Amino acid sequence: MLVKGPGEAKTSQYVKDLMAAVKAKNPAEPEFHQAVQEVAESLDPVMQRRPEYRKAKVLERIIEPERLLMFRVCWQDDQGNFQVNRGFRIEMNSAIGPYKGGLRLHPSVNLGILKFLAFEQVFKNSLTTLPMGGGKGGSDFDPKGKSDNEVMRFCQAFMNELFRHIGPNTDVPAGDIGVGGREIGFLFGQYKKLRNEFTGVLTGKGLNWGGSLIRPEATGYGAVYFAQEMLATRGETLQGKTCLVSGSGNVAQYTIEKLLDLGARPVTMSDSSGYIYDEQGIDRDKLKFAMDLKNVRRGRIKEYADKFKGTVFTPADAKLDFNPLWNHTAHCAFPSATQNEITAKDAMHLVGNGVYVVAEGANMPTTIDGVNVFLDAKILYGPGKAANAGGVATSGLEMSQNSLRLSWTREEVDQRLHGIMKAIHKACFETAKEYGTPGNYVSGANIAGFLKVADAMLDQGLV
Ligand code: NDP
Repeated sequence: MLVKGPGEAKTSQYVKDLMAAVKAKNPAEPEFHQAVQEVAESLDPVMQRRPEYRKAKVLERIIEPERLLMFRVCWQDDQGNFQVNRGFRIEMNSAIGPYKGGLRLHPSVNLGILKFLAFEQVFKNSLTTLPMGGGKGGSDFDPKGKSDNEVMRFCQAFMNELFRHIGPNTDVPAGDIGVGGREIGFLFGQYKKLRNEFTGVLTGKGLNWGGSLIRPEATGYGAVYFAQEMLATRGETLQGKTCLVSGSGNVAQYTIEKLLDLGARPVTMSDSSGYIYDEQGIDRDKLKFAMDLKNVRRGRIKEYADKFKGTVFTPADAKLDFNPLWNHTAHCAFPSATQNEITAKDAMHLVGNGVYVVAEGANMPTTIDGVNVFLDAKILYGPGKAANAGGVATSGLEMSQNSLRLSWTREEVDQRLHGIMKAIHKACFETAKEYGTPGNYVSGANIAGFLKVADAMLDQGLV
């Protein structure tokens, strides 16, 4: 199988020069380089067709964050020890709306990871059809093993700096890895205290204080809706399909819930300690157990295998050069944990085991070589910036409801989310065809997302 890597013959001189500059200017940020490279390769035909974008250095401007905030976060743990973390907010692009994107709390967080996420977010938000710019933020704080009080003190200390940079018309953060309803609550409470105003400055809020129905479900549901649309192009449905899901957090849980609604058979779930394979299928009762385990008791996924007979737990093994979760016979895969969790080898295992639908709930879960395996095999591959855009789209719907000071019903929000995912699929599908790469959702998503932002930037002059 042909595996194309960065810098190989198909890469144009324009992209090579651009990447050399990006790497020189942003050293030690491999995830950021990877995200830019993938987009730049896709945009090559656009740059040839529309030289005005190159003249105005539109892509070069999108690559450079409009503003980058890095700050100290000091807090005290339950033993009274002083703790110091690093906080970030990347305000990437505001051409089509206020900066919008999640906050990630995980020890792996650094500038390069957040810049890749903020860069991806610009295109994703553009695809949603809603007026949202791109941003991302977070901290290297590790919520694992911390008490509720420690998480609260950290969130308050984080907001003590962030509050002066954000606002409902400026920058609207949300959740991501390590940031769910609990953390958004603490962050919102502190923002409100400092500003003395009740506004929709964060999304993912609780239902009785400005949150939207379906927001917790939205990313997972959206990824499944996207898979449904991809399958429909081949006249198929999810009914009876065996599905591999990674992660066991917000995105994974609601991916599994929607898969069950549509008659599919999810068989795996994971966390950083390993994965479970349940050959009989994860049903609603088992999902309920997993949600309680992860959201309330904050335990490890191994407990699922201890509880349900016939389930196999495989611990994570750093010495392996592949993830065995991706080495089971299945029809579909929904990576929903973290970046670069599918390598070229994993991608080959997936394709070799019969998987022909991959819808990415996580952001950039597949390496560039892995993406090329999927593209060469011509499977239905929905990249994260399209397939997981349902989360931020529903955050956009939360912002709309906050502005209207109204709440829509569950059915209304779900219907809008479904409509948005169909529209994103259509835009990717048709744009890929228009630019000579039919069926390639990577180029479709990158080009369609780019055009709206690029045209707005041209309209607004050199700012
Ligand atoms: P959660 O924190 O709720 O869950 C993350 C899950 O992934 C956990 O099971 C976690 O295991 C696992 N995980 C995280 N990092 C690693 C790692 N380095 N190695 C192995 N497993 C890991 O996060 P979300 O479900 O919200 O986010 C999952 C993905 O979806 C991320 O890529 C995120 O950017 C993306 N996403 C999320 C959106 C949202 O609305 N929440 C929107 C769009 C994309 P453990 O608990 O052991 O760390």
